[in-house]
Amino acid sequence: MKTEVKNKQLCRHCGKGTFSARTLPFHAWKDNYLGELALTDFLIYECSSCHRQLIPYESVLRIERAEALKLETWLFKQAGNALEFDAKFLSNAELVSLLGVSRQAINKSPKYRNLIYCLCIKGEYFYYRESAKLFKKHGDGRLHIDEVFESQVDSTIKDLQKGKIQYHTSSNGVITYAES
Ligand SMILES: [Zn+2]
Repeated sequence: MKTEVKNKQLCRHCGKGTFSARTLPFHAWKDNYLGELALTDFLIYECSSCHRQLIPYESVLRIERAEALKLETWLFKQAGNALEFDAKFLSNAELVSLLGVSRQAINKSPKYRNLIYCLCIKGEYFYYRESAKLFKKHGDGRLHIDEVFESQVDSTIKDLQKGKIQYHTSSNGVITYAES
């Protein structure tokens, strides 16, 4: 995804125009797994003739940071309280026993941390259990987190409609759900 592009660089696509920098007020970037990311004041280079757009390296870095932040936010949301955290995340030792590979293999190869969703807390890695299970099965543990989000919302709404879940709003506006 790394693109080196300079002002007045000739466009190889049309051979007629040259590229010039342009800042888009808003740019929506779609990632296969993480869904849509909204970036403001996004720098691109655009051809004066065919209007082909190139994303310079600094903007690629911005996308990567936004992706990392979205994933981290999502993982922390899944983590919930301490009890839920233990149920949903694996320690390094637990990952070793789930995958049947050595601790050294996990530390050496970046694929485990790239393909299994994980959080780094005080220098220690914790792996999202669902993602680790998917990795064990298919060699790629990346979940489509927007779909997971949506399916969680969908099933809650369906259960509400079926009367399986009852909810009430307390005086301070907090909605609590109770399965009936
Ligand atoms: Zn062009």
